[in-house]
Amino acid sequence: MGLIYTKHQEKILKKIEIESDISKWKDWKWQVRNAVRSIEAFEHLTGIRFSEEEKESLKITQGKFPLSITPYYLSLIKKDNYKNDPVFKQSFLDNRELIVSSSEMGDPLSEDHDSPVPGITHRYPDRVLFLVSNVCAMYCRHCTRKRKVGDVDSIPDKSQILQGIEYIRKTPQIRDVLLSGGDPFLLSDDYLDWILTELRTIPHVQVIRIGTRTPVVLPYRITDELVNMLKKHHPIWINTHFNHPREVTTSAKESLAKLADAGIPLGNQSVLLADVNDCPRVMKELVHKLVMNRVRPYYLYQCDLSEGLSHFRTPIGKGIEIMESLIGHTSGFAVPTYVIDAPGGGGKIPVMPNYIISWSTNKVILRNYEGVITSYQEPDKYEKTLCDRDCENCNLELQLNDGEEMDAIGIEKLLADYDDTISLVPQNNERYERRQELYETNKL
Ligand code: SF4
Repeated sequence: MGLIYTKHQEKILKKIEIESDISKWKDWKWQVRNAVRSIEAFEHLTGIRFSEEEKESLKITQGKFPLSITPYYLSLIKKDNYKNDPVFKQSFLDNRELIVSSSEMGDPLSEDHDSPVPGITHRYPDRVLFLVSNVCAMYCRHCTRKRKVGDVDSIPDKSQILQGIEYIRKTPQIRDVLLSGGDPFLLSDDYLDWILTELRTIPHVQVIRIGTRTPVVLPYRITDELVNMLKKHHPIWINTHFNHPREVTTSAKESLAKLADAGIPLGNQSVLLADVNDCPRVMKELVHKLVMNRVRPYYLYQCDLSEGLSHFRTPIGKGIEIMESLIGHTSGFAVPTYVIDAPGGGGKIPVMPNYIISWSTNKVILRNYEGVITSYQEPDKYEKTLCDRDCENCNLELQLNDGEEMDAIGIEKLLADYDDTISLVPQNNERYERRQELYETNKL
C-alpha cells in the first residue's frame, strides 16, 4: 500500500520542516516529536487566528490542562468551519474547561481509592485496570483522567510497573488485565513487549486488553514491528476510541486492518460528547464505519463528572435517544452498550431504553423498535433448580477446579440460592444502627 497523505498534510509537514520528505509524515515518532503543544504553533500550522484576548485566556486553560495534537490529527480539522469541527473540539483548548461545577470531581470514578498499588485499579472481581503509561499522542479535551494524563511527573517507572505485575501475580482471581494510561502504544515496542512478557508468565492471566487511541490520532503508530510483537502475546484484545465518523480515515482504516489481520479482536469505546457526536445520525454513521473495518462498537460512555468536562456532558436522555435510534434499526453487532461509569467507583452501569411494558404470571408484554407491542407466552412448566453449587449440572459441565470461583456480590448475592442474604443495606442506615443497638443491649 503506497503513501497515503493529502496535499493539506504535505503543506503542514513543510510548515513544520521545510526540508523534510513526505515519508516523514508516516513516521510515528516524527509525529510525536512535532505534536502541536502551543497556541502559536496551532495558528502557524492551521492558519486559524485567535485574538490576543482569546489567546490570553486559552493560555490559562493550557496552564491547567496540557495541549498536544499530532500533525496527523490536526490535519483533519476543517479550517473554514473549525468552531463547529468535531476534531477541533476534541483536540484544542476551550476556556470552558476552567468552569468546574459543584458536581464535578478530580477523580470521579475514585480510581485512586480502588488502587491497591500505584497504577492498578482493582474495582471488579476478576479484572484490573493497569495504567502503564501517562503519555498520549493527543490530549483529548474530554479525557476522564485529565487530572493526571500528560503530567510528566507521574509517568510510571519500571519499579512501579513491576509492583503492578507483582500485585497481579499474587492475586489469583485476576484473569483479565486492561492496559491503559495514557496510551500504552506511546511506549516503545521493547518496553511494551517486556510488560506483556511479564504478564504472560502469570498462569491465571487469561486475557490481556489494551486501550489505545492511536488508530484515531496517530494511525502510523501501528507498525508491522508493533503488530508482530503483539502477535507473540495472544490472546490480545484492543479497545480503541473513535468518536466521530470523520476520524475513520484511509490511514485509520489501514491501521485497523493491520491489527485485525494479526488476529486481534477490536472493540471501540466512544464517549457521548455534546456538539461532537450527540446525534443519532452521526452515531449510526460511526458504528457502520467501525463494523466495516472489523471494529465492534463496545461501549458508548456517558461523559464522566471529571473537572473541566461540563461543556461536553449531555443529558442521559440523549444517550437513550441514540440507543433508540440504533437498536433494531441497525445490526445488533453494530450497537454499543450505553454505560454510565458510576461516580464514586461503582463501575459501569448499562443504561437502556425500556422494552418491557408489562408482565403477568403467564405473559410478558414487550414493544419493539418500531413501537409494535407484542406478548411473549411464559412456559407452562419450568423445573426450578435450587443452586447449591453442587447440583448435577454443575458437576457435569463445569471443571470448577480450573480457577478460583468468586463469591456472589450485590444483587447476585440476593438471587443466589446458596446464599441466605435477604437484603443489601447501605452503610450508616439509621434503622439498622438502632436495631444493632438493641441487639447489643439484648433488648432483642
Ligand atoms: S487518549 Fe485516552 S487517556 Fe489519552 S487523553 Fe485521550 S482519553 Fe485521555
